Amino acid sequence: MAFNPIVDAEKCEGCEECVEVCPVEVFEIQDGKSVPVNAEECLGCESCIEVCEPGAITVEEI
Ligand code: SF4
Ligand code: SF4
Repeated sequence: MAFNPIVDAEKCEGCEECVEVCPVEVFEIQDGKSVPVNAEECLGCESCIEVCEPGAITVEEI
């Protein structure tokens, strides 16, 4: 099973909570927005979804 984390740039506020919580360093802040630069490492734990207040992150099962 694999997962694909997606950030809605319109909703992202660049708070870095997802960067801090992700155990496999999927996210990086670029130009004030979170970008899933290591999406293929995602474990599907959904911790990033829990900490993202504006609800900018979705994690798809692929
Ligand atoms: S937790 Fe949400 S709002 Fe904060 S940087 Fe990550 S995607 Fe953006
Ligand atoms: S679901 Fe877990 S492993 Fe995947 S990006 Fe979010 S925090 Fe990282």
